[in-house]
Amino acid sequence: MSQSKEDFLLKGEMEASEFKDFAKAMIDYAADYLENIRDRRVLPTVEPGYLRPLIPDGPPSTPEKWQDVLNDVERVIMPGVTHWHSPRFHAYFPTANSYPAIVADILSGAIACIGFTWIASPACTELEVVMLDWLGKMLDLPPEFLACSGGKGGGVIQGTASEATLVCLLGAKARTVAKMKKEKPDMSESDVISKLVAYCSVQSHSSVERAGLLGGVKMRSLQTNDKNEVEGSTLEEAIKKDIEAGLIPFYVVATLGTTSSCTFDRLDEMGPVCNKYDIWLHVDAAYAGSAFICPEFRYLMKGVERAESFNFNPHKWMLVNFDCSALWLKNPNWVVNAFNVDPVYLKHDHQGAAPDYRHWQIPLGRRFRALKIWFVLRLFGVENLQKHIRKQVSLAHHFESLVNTDSRFEITEKVVLGVVCFRLKGSNEINEALLKKINGRGLIHMVPSKIRDVYFLRFVICSKYTEEEDVNLSWNEIKASTDEVLSLNGSVTNGVNGIH
Ligand code: PLP
Repeated sequence: MSQSKEDFLLKGEMEASEFKDFAKAMIDYAADYLENIRDRRVLPTVEPGYLRPLIPDGPPSTPEKWQDVLNDVERVIMPGVTHWHSPRFHAYFPTANSYPAIVADILSGAIACIGFTWIASPACTELEVVMLDWLGKMLDLPPEFLACSGGKGGGVIQGTASEATLVCLLGAKARTVAKMKKEKPDMSESDVISKLVAYCSVQSHSSVERAGLLGGVKMRSLQTNDKNEVEGSTLEEAIKKDIEAGLIPFYVVATLGTTSSCTFDRLDEMGPVCNKYDIWLHVDAAYAGSAFICPEFRYLMKGVERAESFNFNPHKWMLVNFDCSALWLKNPNWVVNAFNVDPVYLKHDHQGAAPDYRHWQIPLGRRFRALKIWFVLRLFGVENLQKHIRKQVSLAHHFESLVNTDSRFEITEKVVLGVVCFRLKGSNEINEALLKKINGRGLIHMVPSKIRDVYFLRFVICSKYTEEEDVNLSWNEIKASTDEVLSLNGSVTNGVNGIH
């Protein structure tokens, strides 16, 4: 062996052991970060462009010490981190975090396979098939969705709920084009596509409207009733009108747990309408779906048996770190055939015997994400995951009861899961000023929402570290901010006078 080659190998070995030390130190750092997260300010105070001056203009040409890199995490990165797992982070929806899922991601990173076909890493595909069955059973999904039922159905892990909505829209589009070609052979494919129309709630997540844009079809927003639910009759009326106008209704998205206010479309009414007109019904339960592991919340998904596809994000509320969005399809063939391109280098001898998940999603590449579900389910057990959901729901009700003690505030939506929608009785402007004050003080973080021009604040139980004392502290912070805002506005402090 030449000297230079030996030098290279020796250096490589040295690096490997150094990097192991780095990995171990980083695991300690990450654990310390999480265990002490309540000591950090939720929102950073940095301004745009803060980071560039903190690091060199270009990469180093020779290796640096890992200790310096680790130190720079605290110096460069942490000042610009919004701490989503702070017990006083109450914005958006939760994003899940747990050690079993982090450990699974480490293993996934080490295996580093790209499981686009069964043969590309059989364990990656096979564990995913079984985990989606486990999860589906935990939610008590109808057997037609599960691979273990022996029918066509099955589940897949998508990166996000947005991808799931788009993938199903494309499957529905392919299904309707095929149907129309049979029924009206003189219609061209582009004729059919130009007439396709999909439906969602006016309060659906923006990703649903985006799926329509990306899929090149019309997306009609349906008005909701006074409880912010889409009713079956509203959907049917819109469908009839569109059919009369010569359009082809093909896809409906029902939301269970809207982003604005965590309300639930009338799935039980929408399903029969979709079945009557042979329209693909997709259920977007991105946040709320995790709650269905508790039997007492399953009334919220009544009618799911009529849907063609169902999606929720374990990466939101089920302690499985991002990204992990679970999608089940009763008949995946529509999706599989919609995207099927089959180059020779991706073919293998076992095609058809197990899913080739590349056909079920938009990208080709995919990580070994099922490990996260497996580790989380085994190391917590279903009972502890149920406890987690129940505890967070009860903390939301605790916050609701605190709001109800202060006559300056009103609750604007029924509290069902971990989201409390509330506002100061008064103008939108005063509520906007209040939220600005709260976020400016930086101790807690929330985001607003608006329905029918009424602006309100959303208080969401997000972090698994949130305890009752944290909720009390957050409430005191909201009250202190309110006092400041009302006194600045020249309002009296004894109630709502002056803020209308
Ligand atoms: N659908 C609903 C109801 C949501 O609340 C969200 C995000 O909060 C999404 C879809 C989009 O989720 P994702 O980021 O997984 O695409």
